[in-house]
Amino acid sequence: MGEEQQREERWRTEAYPMKGGDAMDSYANNSSYQRGGVVAAKKVIIEAVGEKLDLKSIVSSNIFRIADLGCSVGPNTFFAAENIINAVQSKCQYDQYQGGVLHDLDHVCPEFQVFFNDHSSNDFNTLFTSLPPDRQYFAAGVAGSFYCRLFPSASLHFVHSSYAINWLSKVPKPIIDKSSAAWNKGKIHYSNSKDVVVEAYEVQFGEDMECFLHARAQEVVFGGLIALVICGRPNGMPHSQNAQNITFELLGSCLMDMAKKGKVSEEKVDSFNIPMYLMSPQELEAAVDRNGYFGIERIEDLPNVLQLGGRPKSEVISSHWRAIMHGMMKVHFGRDAVIILDELLELFRKKLEEDLSLMNSISDTLYTFFALLKRQARE
Ligand code: SAH
Repeated sequence: MGEEQQREERWRTEAYPMKGGDAMDSYANNSSYQRGGVVAAKKVIIEAVGEKLDLKSIVSSNIFRIADLGCSVGPNTFFAAENIINAVQSKCQYDQYQGGVLHDLDHVCPEFQVFFNDHSSNDFNTLFTSLPPDRQYFAAGVAGSFYCRLFPSASLHFVHSSYAINWLSKVPKPIIDKSSAAWNKGKIHYSNSKDVVVEAYEVQFGEDMECFLHARAQEVVFGGLIALVICGRPNGMPHSQNAQNITFELLGSCLMDMAKKGKVSEEKVDSFNIPMYLMSPQELEAAVDRNGYFGIERIEDLPNVLQLGGRPKSEVISSHWRAIMHGMMKVHFGRDAVIILDELLELFRKKLEEDLSLMNSISDTLYTFFALLKRQARE
């Protein structure tokens, strides 16, 4: 394979958008858990902007550019954008006040531009039709994978990404190759799989993080910030004990039950794998160190908030996964995807109800952490 081909192969990404629109089963209506993480990050982002952002040195053209990578459809992405803007505005006012005079925000603050990024198959129509009417920014959409370059050099001041970089760019190749020792037969994730399967996921995660950080190192101005809200696993916790991994293990066993009853082809299940890696804070730190262009300014656990809104927990968890898995199932199972998904999630919901301790261990140990990176001044 030539060098160019190799790069293309490496950057070939798969896209599994969340369920679009604004219906009951949409991501917009089934992402309250993620919303909890984005809300919890608000305080940390306000502090980070106050302490770590040197506005005078980074904004030369009076335009402050923010990107939200893996935005899906609102409202979480709008909340994140607004929160960053409010934090920057407070910082501007504070900086001015240090000079002894309190000016209007319009006089002391830059203008804001927010780039909403996701795969081109994301429901950008719903995103743009639901933009908050009272927004204080110019909105633009940027379609493409965040594992590639998306923006001109040194053009971004603040990058935000929540619940997105846990998605790998693709299913690791060896695990879908029947002739490989890492072929992941009968499973849909690396949860409780052979070590070689876990290693294949780890390798893909390492390569993806390298691409992500390499692209951002070029796009973010010196002194600019990246705020990451990541669904992962605590330092030192084995993959097999992590809440998301346990969830995937259960979903996989439900799908295998369906295969045994002839409701879905076993071969199709064998080749279906979820391209998600649950990283630990230490793994993120190691990737940032390897890249060398960013310093980690802050890294901390966020509270785990699963809002039930009066619905049974089993139903909230299963509709959460339904909105997430919809795109993946459509790509893999084609025409029958929705029927399979309905039955799969119903089976999953029932199993959660039958085993309350399993359900509680999943919901109570979901783990999200926050990391703040700062672009260091080196070419
Ligand atoms: N940030 C939102 C949405 C998270 S869902 C929130 O916190 O609620 C994850 C989103 O990341 C999905 O919309 C998915 O399409 C997107 N995504 C995953 N991999 C991506 C990639 N490589 N490039 C761009 N977007 C990606």
